[in-house]
Amino acid sequence: MPLGTEKGQLLIISGPSGSGKGTVTKKLIPCDNYALSVSMTTRNPRPGEVHGVDYIFCTKEHFMEIRDNDGFLEHASFSGNYYGTPISYVEQKIDEGQTVVLEIEVVGALQVKDKYPDAILVFLMPPTFDDLRRRLIERGTECEDEIERRTRRAREEMVELKKYDYLVVNDDIEQAMEDIHMVVKAEKMKPHRSQCKIEAFYGDNKNEY
Ligand code: 5GP
Repeated sequence: MPLGTEKGQLLIISGPSGSGKGTVTKKLIPCDNYALSVSMTTRNPRPGEVHGVDYIFCTKEHFMEIRDNDGFLEHASFSGNYYGTPISYVEQKIDEGQTVVLEIEVVGALQVKDKYPDAILVFLMPPTFDDLRRRLIERGTECEDEIERRTRRAREEMVELKKYDYLVVNDDIEQAMEDIHMVVKAEKMKPHRSQCKIEAFYGDNKNEY
């Protein structure tokens, strides 16, 4: 880590399928100092998804091997498939002072919060439950059964939202992004994340006062 750089932070974005978290995350990443963690999954790629960009797609056996070797920061199953966050990339980017974005579901998010209480947990939610269903249907990537499964899971996920640090309503993508930037900016001002600023204040006078 370059001298005078604070350690980075973990920013977790969760929310039900159809909350728009994928779109918001993709727009956040090109911004300064954000790095996206690419998850591993045993789910089949959807049309247009690229291996290594959207996910690292792998077999169940490979996933289990990595899990058994403690290669995941967190992992969970969702709608019959496994998903996990490879630990090495996250650690490297945190050391470089970046804000590492994890777009993950609630079970995994709460595992991370247990291990790293400092992680910032943002829950993204569409304005209404009807919006959520409509978005799921309109994106056309899931069959009817899967839409039903994901809608049921959305209800379960909503129960956990009180454990999150922030709730962002995604009615408008630009506004949701601005809200998330605001959260990150405010978090960076917390004294325990501001060691460099405090050291700069004292400069050479550290021992005199
Ligand atoms: P999808 O199949 O729609 O891409 O993802 C299904 C759910 O799994 C979404 O809520 C997504 O955020 C979550 N997810 C994606 N990657 C991970 C991961 O590495 N860990 C966990 N716990 N959830 C993930």
